Amino acid sequence: MDRIDPAISLEQILDKAENNRFLSKNEIIYLLGIEKEDELQRIYEKARELRNRHFGNKIFLYGFVYFSTWCRNDCAFCYYRKSNEGSKRYRKSNREIMDTVMGLTESGVHLIDLTMGEDPKYYMNSSGFKPLFELIADIKSQTKLPVMISPGLASEENLTKFQAFGADWYACYQETHNEKLFNILRLEQSYEERFQSKLKANAAGLLIEEGILTGVGETPGDIAHSMECMRYLGANQVRVMSFVPQSGSTMESWPQAPRGQEIKIIAILRLVFPDKLIPASLDIDGVEGLQERLDAGANVITSIIPPEAGLAGVAQCSKDINEGYRTVQGITPVIEAMGLRKATTAEYRAWVDSEKSKTAMKWQKSGAVI
Ligand code: SF4
Repeated sequence: MDRIDPAISLEQILDKAENNRFLSKNEIIYLLGIEKEDELQRIYEKARELRNRHFGNKIFLYGFVYFSTWCRNDCAFCYYRKSNEGSKRYRKSNREIMDTVMGLTESGVHLIDLTMGEDPKYYMNSSGFKPLFELIADIKSQTKLPVMISPGLASEENLTKFQAFGADWYACYQETHNEKLFNILRLEQSYEERFQSKLKANAAGLLIEEGILTGVGETPGDIAHSMECMRYLGANQVRVMSFVPQSGSTMESWPQAPRGQEIKIIAILRLVFPDKLIPASLDIDGVEGLQERLDAGANVITSIIPPEAGLAGVAQCSKDINEGYRTVQGITPVIEAMGLRKATTAEYRAWVDSEKSKTAMKWQKSGAVI
């Protein structure tokens, strides 16, 4: 049971956030316990204020290319776990991926997110990742856009190569930083190896995204601890997503996570990480859920997927995709109605470059050997 210090008040927490001071674990737990609508609105208001202070009204857009749904793992929450015979599998060729990437680039996204399950074809031997390295280099030379890779757990050697071939980001979600819960969710995977991979990626010059799932049995203390771990990692982008039960997974009869919790965590992430990127994913509630996530302080729209490319999402594998709503065109009216605007590619690149310089300086100063 998480105990809350009776001396903590919302006023004092918002004041700390306003003055750029990191919130304590107890303060984060306190915020997570807030239910009154007027108090929640004060948190969201502060989150928007901090986002606007650091990013103005700019919103960044990420194109999502889930190019292989094959996976060697058996995560309890995942539709694409290896033992789910009902899940739709595909593996796109580099040519098919490039076609999609060019379409996304023309539509105006600021980053290409290349995601796959831990596809055994890539993991089978030391040259397995070669096609991915070549793909990254092609995307960089043809689009000049920043690239995020989400290939699952990667070795130090491969992380260094991803960076050398032009990748800018490495995303690898822990989903929880409670090791016991991690072992229940990510069956037969190493907590430590996954966590360390992000430090190694960062030391190799890649920006990192860390993420959690909410609604999977975590406590408020676990969520607050995750935020401390994200800070320890120096994550440049921090994400929360609601658990959605998946048919064929061991958690298929779990209840849907209440959405209010994800929205509240987005706002708290903004209070804790005012100058970092925080996604509003289209993967959970599609375009309908976009406004409330942006209202809570998110500043990146992720999971933009072109229709008719035969690509899937992660949590909601088909939601809004074929209808064409998960496109730059589909989300633009929502952003504009909120007084926000799509950033320019140059603005996004400038942010990435500045974070990379800070990261390089941090590792230089620490002189750490990972
Ligand atoms: S969450 Fe990722 S690693 Fe786990 S089973 Fe799904 S695709 Fe594989």
